[in-house]
Amino acid sequence: MRLAERLRCKGRLGLVPTMGYLHEGHLDLVRRCNRLADSTVVSIFVNPAQFGPKEDLSRYPRDFGRDRRMLEKEGVDVIFCPNAAAMYPRGYATWVDVERLTEGMCGRFRPGHFRGVATVVLKLFNIVRPHVAVFGAKDWQQAAVIRRMALDLDTGTRVVVAPTTREKDGLAMSSRNSYLTAKQRAEAPALYEALVTARGLVRAGEKNAEKVKQRALAVIRVGSSGKVQYVEVADPDTLEPVRRIAGPVVVALAVWFGRTRLIDNIVCVPR
Ligand code: AMP
Repeated sequence: MRLAERLRCKGRLGLVPTMGYLHEGHLDLVRRCNRLADSTVVSIFVNPAQFGPKEDLSRYPRDFGRDRRMLEKEGVDVIFCPNAAAMYPRGYATWVDVERLTEGMCGRFRPGHFRGVATVVLKLFNIVRPHVAVFGAKDWQQAAVIRRMALDLDTGTRVVVAPTTREKDGLAMSSRNSYLTAKQRAEAPALYEALVTARGLVRAGEKNAEKVKQRALAVIRVGSSGKVQYVEVADPDTLEPVRRIAGPVVVALAVWFGRTRLIDNIVCVPR
């Protein structure tokens, strides 16, 4: 990335890694990056290494023309979209494993997922060498894993985590929302309702994490036909499960709507 090299010499360089099929949530990260840095690189790469064999790699939505128009409007300096063979050439053998943080939540159900994520993000950091990189709180566990990796491996990149951008009805924006049928789309805001209910309980002083979890589960069951994969109450930094709530916690969940898996989370601070 000779262009990135030149931009880095001129001032602070920012990176926003994405898998494309951009939405307003991605653009909010780009805008934040534009404010934090003098130049912004957005990467678009549907990273095969973070998809399991039965996951949606081949049907993951792609529209490079649309993505490029959206990014041009935001004044992005470089769009970096490598292909899989360039990122993982024949003989590729090196992987980044972040321990502990990857064991619970999504890591329990997507073995190897965070290994793929940490590896590709480190590669992007090494290729672009950004001063700052912006990630979304929507993928809370991913952000925690990357923050840890950047610290442990001395990448020298400042990792910034920006808030989740939501649709008007509360549904967290996601490229995967495009998979939802009209009925599923109408039900999906139940996830955010469940998280807001959980936050209300924690704010009101509920200390029992299991009770918070059960109330969130009930909201999802009543409001949707989604199949819950997990609801967890955890420490926001270590992601260790919490049983008795004595400080800030993250309530995170994953729910299947047909073949579409949605995730979301909320940070709750007791009064
Ligand atoms: P993806 O293209 O889904 O891999 O996401 C690329 C980046 O955008 C990641 O840092 C995500 O956490 C972030 N992101 C995705 N959806 C949202 C959202 N609704 N709000 C904020 N950030 C998001």
